[in-house]
Amino acid sequence: MMAEIHTSGAVLTDLIGLTRDELTTELSALGLPTFRTGQIWHWLYHRGETDFAEMTTLAKPLRGQLAERFTVGRLETAREQRSVDGTIKWLFRFADGNEAETVYIPEEDRGTLCVSSQIGCTLTCSFCHTGTQRLVRNLTSGEIVGQVMAALDAMESWPSNKEGRPITNIVLMGMGEPLYNLDNVAKALKVISDNEGISISKRRITLSTSGVVPEMHRCGAETGVNLAISLHAVTDAVRDILVPINKKYPLADLLQACRDYPGVHNARRITFEYVMLKDLNDSITDARALVRLIKGIPAKINLIPFNPWPGSPYECSDPATIEAFAGVIMAAGYPSPVRRPRGSDILAACGQLKSESQRLRKRDREALPPRPWPSRWNR
Ligand code: SAH
Ligand code: SF4
Repeated sequence: MMAEIHTSGAVLTDLIGLTRDELTTELSALGLPTFRTGQIWHWLYHRGETDFAEMTTLAKPLRGQLAERFTVGRLETAREQRSVDGTIKWLFRFADGNEAETVYIPEEDRGTLCVSSQIGCTLTCSFCHTGTQRLVRNLTSGEIVGQVMAALDAMESWPSNKEGRPITNIVLMGMGEPLYNLDNVAKALKVISDNEGISISKRRITLSTSGVVPEMHRCGAETGVNLAISLHAVTDAVRDILVPINKKYPLADLLQACRDYPGVHNARRITFEYVMLKDLNDSITDARALVRLIKGIPAKINLIPFNPWPGSPYECSDPATIEAFAGVIMAAGYPSPVRRPRGSDILAACGQLKSESQRLRKRDREALPPRPWPSRWNR
C-alpha cells in the first residue's frame, strides 16, 4: 500500500487492516457516529470497494469527507504466476519497496490462500528456503489483510459471499514465523474472519509455527484459529538441526504447549507438519516414535515431501519410503497424511518462497531435480 497524499497535502490514513474498534476511533475523530463503522466496513470488506465515491449508501458530502482523510489501499502486484495445476503465486510489493509472496491452492473441496507474515525470517530451519533469507521486517496488519484483498481482487471474488467463492481457507504458512509477529497477525485475523466482511471462519484458518512455545497459548486465546506445528523430527538431536528453535524450546515443552492449546479438547485438532527428508527423519522407527510422541493430542499429521531449492542440503525421501511411513501413521488412525506439492513449476510449494530480490533464475529452477510423484497420492 502506498502512502497516499490528498491534494490538500494531508497524508491519508489507509483503512485496510484496521480492526472495527480502530475504524470506529478513526471515524469518531471526524465526529461520525458508530453506526457508520458497520456501513463502511461492509463497503470495504464485503463489497471490496476501493473508491469512496462509489459507496452509494453514504451521503455524498460524507463520501467527500472520507476521501479527504482516508484511502482504501491495495498492494501492488509485482508479478503473478499461474501453475499448470491451477496454483497461483503472487509477488506483492509494499509501500517501502519490500516484497512477499502469497499462494492460492485450489483443491476439489476448498481453495486455500497461503499468506506471509514477515519479510524473510529470523529463524534458520536448514531445509527451508525462506530460512536462508534474513528477516527484513514484520508485515503490518494492513499488509497481511492486503494479501487477501489483492487475491480476492485478482480472482474477481467480490462481494465476499459470492456463490462458489474461490478462497474458502487461509493458512499462515507463507514466509516468516507468525508467532514472532503475533500482534499484527492477530489483528489481521480479526479482520479476515469478521462475518460481516471477508468472513472466512476461524475454523477455516490455520496458523503454522516452528514452535515459539511462549506465544502459543496467547495465539489460541486471542485468535481462536487452528494451529499447525512444524514438527519435522521426533528427537531433540535431529530437530535441533532441522528446526534450530528447538534448542530453545525442545520437544517436551512444545508438545506440552500443544496439550495446553486453547480449544484443543473441543475437537480442534492440531496439525503436525513433517517434512520427509531422505535418511534423516523418514524411517519406520521415526514413524512409530511420531505416533507415540503425539499420543493423547487431538491431531492430524501432514507429511510434506521435501521441496528442493537450488543449494538445498537435503533430498526428498523416496516415494516407497514415504508410503511406508504414511502406512504406520494411517494404521495409528490418522487419515490421508501426504501433502501433494502444488505449484512446484512456479516455486510455490512449501518452503520455496522468497522475495523477488533473492528469487531464483529460470536456469536455476530448471536445474532442480525432478521428483517422482505417484498418481495414487493425488487426492
Ligand atoms: N514459519 C512457520 C510458517 C511457515 S509454514 C513454520 O515454520 O511453521 C511452511 C511449512 O513448510 C512449514 O511446516 C515448513 O517447515 C515447511 N517447509 C519449509 N521448507 C520446506 C521445504 N523445502 N519442503 C517442504 N516443506 C517445507
Ligand atoms: Fe522460518 Fe518457518 Fe522457514 Fe523455519 S520453516 S525458516 S520458521 S519460515
